Amino acid sequence: MGFLQRCLARSLLQGQRSLGNPERLKPPLPTWGLLYSTGVPGLQERTLIAVKPDGVQRRLVGDVIKRFEQRGFKLVGLKLLQASEGILAEHYHELRRKPFYQELLRYMTSGPVVAMVWEGYNVVKTSRSMVGETNPAEAKPGTVRGDFSVHVSRNVVHASDSVETAQREISLWFRHDEIVDWDCCDHNVMYEL
Ligand code: UDP
Ligand code: MG
Repeated sequence: MGFLQRCLARSLLQGQRSLGNPERLKPPLPTWGLLYSTGVPGLQERTLIAVKPDGVQRRLVGDVIKRFEQRGFKLVGLKLLQASEGILAEHYHELRRKPFYQELLRYMTSGPVVAMVWEGYNVVKTSRSMVGETNPAEAKPGTVRGDFSVHVSRNVVHASDSVETAQREISLWFRHDEIVDWDCCDHNVMYEL
């Protein structure tokens, strides 16, 4: 028997064996990629999270990452950098007339920052609540700021405040090729796909 005939015979045999088997009626399991790309809307929302220089100095980077991983978000971009005044001036453009602006730039350039892009359903809103109020005195225990900071001028972490702001901030801090699209193998248990 030639190769083609053997394949044909095998598939006919398998077809007969599966008759009457309910498993046969199920569609084949899609790959993770397919599961992901056909998932619930909003699954690919992204936000910029940055551990500020005080957070890096105090070795809180791991703790911040842990909280986002534990919550179920997906890390798609990560880097440690010494931020320039230029990038910060753009990042904090809306605050340029605030009395604390100059001090904010001084603080944000005082040491390295760890910038991250996190992805997942409702990630912008959820990460703002995980980070807590701007002023740590008002931030609830259990939030990053509520657990690790006391003064508004040293509040450990940045989180984008809207989906539009997140898009702008991500493209400011990350080049397109620094963001990694990858399929997270626990998506089928995290979401109703
Ligand atoms: N900030 C400050 N003094 C203030 C208010 C804000 O030093 O009275 C700093 C603080 O680091 C804050 C950042 O400016 O995180 C940006 O302010 P924003 O109002 O955007 O707060 P956020 O979005 O970070 O919660
Ligand atoms: Mg803000």
